[in-house]
Amino acid sequence: MTETQMEKPSFTKLEHPTNGQCIELDGDALIVPDRPIIPVIEGDGIGRDIMRATRRVIDAAVKKCYGGKRQIEWFDVFAGEAAQETYQEWLPEDTFAAIRHYRVALKGPLTTPVGGGFRSLNVTLRQVLDLYACVRPVRYFPGVPSPVREPEKMNVVIYRENTEDVYAGIEYAANSPEAKRVIDFLVNQMGAKIRDGSGIGIKPMSEFGTKRLVRLAIQAALRQKRASVTLVHKGNIMKFTEGAFRDWGYELAREEFGKDTVAEADLKGPAPAGKVVINDRIADSMFQQILTRTDDYSILAMPNLNGDYLSDACAAQVGGLGLAPGANFGDGLGLFEATHGTAPKYADQDKVNPGSLLLSGSFMLEHLGWVEASRAIESALGETILQKRVTYDLARLLGDVPAIKTSEFATAIIENLPG
Ligand code: NAD
Repeated sequence: MTETQMEKPSFTKLEHPTNGQCIELDGDALIVPDRPIIPVIEGDGIGRDIMRATRRVIDAAVKKCYGGKRQIEWFDVFAGEAAQETYQEWLPEDTFAAIRHYRVALKGPLTTPVGGGFRSLNVTLRQVLDLYACVRPVRYFPGVPSPVREPEKMNVVIYRENTEDVYAGIEYAANSPEAKRVIDFLVNQMGAKIRDGSGIGIKPMSEFGTKRLVRLAIQAALRQKRASVTLVHKGNIMKFTEGAFRDWGYELAREEFGKDTVAEADLKGPAPAGKVVINDRIADSMFQQILTRTDDYSILAMPNLNGDYLSDACAAQVGGLGLAPGANFGDGLGLFEATHGTAPKYADQDKVNPGSLLLSGSFMLEHLGWVEASRAIESALGETILQKRVTYDLARLLGDVPAIKTSEFATAIIENLPG
């Protein structure tokens, strides 16, 4: 009996759906029923517009591909402004419990409340659920305006560590008593040189945190039959954090995936068929390489800060964040989300581009193993863009093209579903 079957959490204000079943786990593998219950956080601002459109397209694609045999049972859970109304809380425990229990969830953007002690609801969700890998697939859709000559060469998946590095939130303001104590310790007991009055930020990176991230990246490379996993680091300068990330990454590949991987340094010619090449690149050089040798790269694994920079740079190369999907993974958990914010000035106008959330939904379907529906959505979205039936953001970039509404864009994608 699995953990889920044993413990169905009781909620304070939610009811478990009566239709549909829970996704289960067998080791690392998901066991997906034909009617999985998927918690959904609609999100604030434009979340309402793009979630409505996204659910319509996903439901239509699943119906078209599986003829009614499969169906998603959406389960609305609350976060952000909607949670404030219902629970007088930004992130109620019901929401965490539902995502933990049902394992795979879809999320719209959330407003970061001003005050109230939150850094951000998104960061809190990731921390509480220990979603340690931020994953961003970046590929080009023909017809999307791009600043580079050959955007179609981009097809990478970025695995960014989500819990450590300078993002751990261990920071002390210049001249604060805490900063003075840390400086005093480092200068007087460790012999470090630090200018008085410096602000202090701590960069912790662990073997555990690195290896669990690189493990997910290599597993994905093997599953998707990708050519390589590149460890992106700044280990030439920060030897014991970024350099250790590189060393632990290679060590993990050797120890856990020895027969399926080969280090680039050990290659004497082309990689043996079926083996994933593990290599590493210094972060600054990687920013050049992804522009100049784009199609040499496939899966990229990196610490938090490098990942933050590089994922947006890669998205820009294929036309921006509007069509960039994302997910946050923990052990047995996946939270799929739009990568942009709530764009409050466009809320409830049926105007914005649902592409990022829709592609995150397509990524979610792929994660469930419903590959046909995932491919159908991507193909229909691509076709719709080629027909220049697009929302205002893309219409503006394409020049003399009238913009259509979010809901009309969704309808056009549904019309273009193959099969
Ligand atoms: P934003 O991404 O919400 O909007 C910036 C601009 O980008 C918008 O004004 C709009 O011009 C454009 N834009 C964004 N999404 C678009 C879409 N789908 N289609 C067309 N155009 C789009 O960023 P912001 O204004 O800095 O942040 C607004 C709020 O969103 C803040 O409260 C912030 O904390 C939050 N936020 C949430 C997330 C998240 O939930 N993951 C991410 C970023 C920001």
